[in-house]
Amino acid sequence: MDNWILKNTAMLVNDPVKEQPVAADEVKVKVTYVLASNYDAVLYSGDGGAKYPKTIGRFAVGRVTEAGAGCYGVERNMRVLLQPTRSCGNCLECKTGKEEYCSSPAIAGRDFDGFLRDFVVCKYTDVAPLPDSVGDTEALCTEAVALAEKVYDRLELPAGSRVAVIGGNFAGNIMAQVLQYHKLIPIVIDNSPVALDKARGCGIYYSFAADDDLHENIKEATSGMLCDAAIYTTCSRLDPALTIRVLSEGKQAVLAGFAPISFNIPARELCEKNASVFCAMNGYGYTDTAINLLVHKAVDISVFEKETLTEFDPNAIYKTLGDVSTVRSGKMTIFKLII
Ligand SMILES: [Zn+2]
Repeated sequence: MDNWILKNTAMLVNDPVKEQPVAADEVKVKVTYVLASNYDAVLYSGDGGAKYPKTIGRFAVGRVTEAGAGCYGVERNMRVLLQPTRSCGNCLECKTGKEEYCSSPAIAGRDFDGFLRDFVVCKYTDVAPLPDSVGDTEALCTEAVALAEKVYDRLELPAGSRVAVIGGNFAGNIMAQVLQYHKLIPIVIDNSPVALDKARGCGIYYSFAADDDLHENIKEATSGMLCDAAIYTTCSRLDPALTIRVLSEGKQAVLAGFAPISFNIPARELCEKNASVFCAMNGYGYTDTAINLLVHKAVDISVFEKETLTEFDPNAIYKTLGDVSTVRSGKMTIFKLII
């Protein structure tokens, strides 16, 4: 039995939960797959602001084994995505019945227990049924697609706009693919040849190294105009100043990702470009849209290497979390939970 609880910074223990009763509006889900993420790694390192103790694991899928009498649209045996975010219940929006616009959603692993465990009992509204055409591995990418969709929605750019995506790792690659699906023109910037290859591999036309030629390359790709928006993926570890440098005047810079990593943005360049900045740190409210995009094959995840771990001890989990936070090549490491 598995239930991997982070008791404190870098203190992970397997402490199986006792059988939980299932209320009328709740479901019991057998967790099947959990994607190791840099978010979990940040929580593990103590930087993520987790309210210990919390079970880790933000991105997971499973199968419903029990559904209360008051659950609608969710039945026993259904494959589901476990929602990685929930409304906070405390903000103005939540208190005035507009939970869908919650301004600070609670996040799995930090604010409520995550999913690296055998069973989850939760409200039926905290799971999203998965269509047959969306495989488990694809479903684990839902939050990354939802984050990209949220950014696309907020940018409100017309088709053909040039958007720089700084960081071509997992989240950045998916971001670029979603923008491309919406007929924007992504320009992926990364120092890793592997990440640039992966971008090309899924049909991204412009992908450049963050080197001395970058400025000229961007000018060429934008007919000298520079970019209509620039998205910095927070786990990319690339120079955040690139975000402003590739941007045309009066445009939007975006900080997007799952892990809140500390870095500095050059304020003077930001002011000189008259740029505005917004942040997107989760895909709250966009899960259904994201699943729909996956149904329509808007995102090709075949470019990512996959590794599945079926047996793991604290050391294996520690090593995996270390790998996902340092390797930027876009590999998916998945924990498979078997009874
Ligand atoms: Zn709220």
